[in-house]
Amino acid sequence: MRKEKRDIRVMLAVLLIVAAAGILFLLNRSKGRALARQETALELLSADALCVGDEVIKPVQADAEIGGRTYTVHPEGSGIVRITDMEQSVIVLPDDTVSAEITVFSGEETVFSGNEEGFRSFYPENGKYRLLVRCRVQPDAVTSKGEEFTFEGTEEYRAELEYDVPMKISFESDRIREGSVMTVNASGVRGDVVISAGEVLAPFPLVTDERGYARGLFSVSYITPPGTYTGFIETRDGTSEFSFTIEEEQYAVQHLIISEETQSATIGNSDNRDAYNEMIDKTYYSWYPERFYDDCFTLPVDGVVTTEFGLFRYTNDNPVPTRHAGVDLAEDEGTPVLAAASGYVIAAGYNGVSGNTVVMDHGFGVRTYYFHMAELCVREGEFVEEGIEIGKVGATGYATGPHLHFNLMVHDNSVDPWAAFNGTSGIFGLDRNGGAQP
Ligand SMILES: [Zn+2]
Repeated sequence: MRKEKRDIRVMLAVLLIVAAAGILFLLNRSKGRALARQETALELLSADALCVGDEVIKPVQADAEIGGRTYTVHPEGSGIVRITDMEQSVIVLPDDTVSAEITVFSGEETVFSGNEEGFRSFYPENGKYRLLVRCRVQPDAVTSKGEEFTFEGTEEYRAELEYDVPMKISFESDRIREGSVMTVNASGVRGDVVISAGEVLAPFPLVTDERGYARGLFSVSYITPPGTYTGFIETRDGTSEFSFTIEEEQYAVQHLIISEETQSATIGNSDNRDAYNEMIDKTYYSWYPERFYDDCFTLPVDGVVTTEFGLFRYTNDNPVPTRHAGVDLAEDEGTPVLAAASGYVIAAGYNGVSGNTVVMDHGFGVRTYYFHMAELCVREGEFVEEGIEIGKVGATGYATGPHLHFNLMVHDNSVDPWAAFNGTSGIFGLDRNGGAQP
């Protein structure tokens, strides 16, 4: 009897020990799992890196929230980033980023605050800054020891940020033909950049975007003699020079007899010349920093070329030739004249030299001139799309028969219109609108 009782007690004690051990084992197992989850989450966080340009930066602090508790690690982190080109000034965040707060300090002052999109257009003065990036991350479900779990975390990155972006300016070539155009691109631009070349090219500004990229058109008139010239680049830091060579273009020669009456009634009359100058001179000051024109100009009138662009014209056996700044396209009176490209009408009216006249501005200093029309279909200030009728062919002003005199100017220089009609002109070297990168 006593022995049996004792045996039962022993059995019960053994069972209790086994049960307790089992419970402890289970508790430990779940605790082990929880620990493994934390470790996995924190490993993932601290392994995340972001890139600024070519530099990889690890976080200085990473936190994970699992089941209402927050765990923190401090990986070695931090870095030094030197930006010498705005292409490098881009932050690429870890893949699992939900949102990011980017702050840039200059000393104690906050000079930038925003997200990675906003940072793309942050273009500070050269100098030293401090970068702080806080990312909220939420990776997809993670598996640890066969168990799937999710967590939320934050990562904090710090870096020294040094901007040392020099201004670079590049011309398409150091050689340019008479009556042609080339593009100018610049990067690292701060403030206005103005290009000029004395008598050859009046000062014009480059169009600069918010990241310091700038571009413009450099033109040479058809009447500038070939040779080597000096150009000037004015910036807020001073003026620098560059050298370029103008190459000769071949132009045709024409001998023309025009009656004294026609001459004295038109260009021979000083009032007419004054009215012409008043209308045309003001168009030289028109300026739009946008590109309205497409990749090829429309021929405004599909007429017979009676006077070529750049031609040397000897009138009534005068030994001194005049030059033809545009192209004459003869067509029947009343034929529609189409806008060669989209742009603003910056002059529309009559004067005794160019007759019924329209001038259009297509942006970036590109302008077109339409002379001698019978009537006009547009008004000054209107925006007109390429191919729209702006007037009708006529013989008003200094003209011997119905034709359109068409002239293409870039800044204050008349250039080859045919290159605009066949798409080879340097004016098409500019990226369409926003594309500022050289
Ligand atoms: Zn003409």
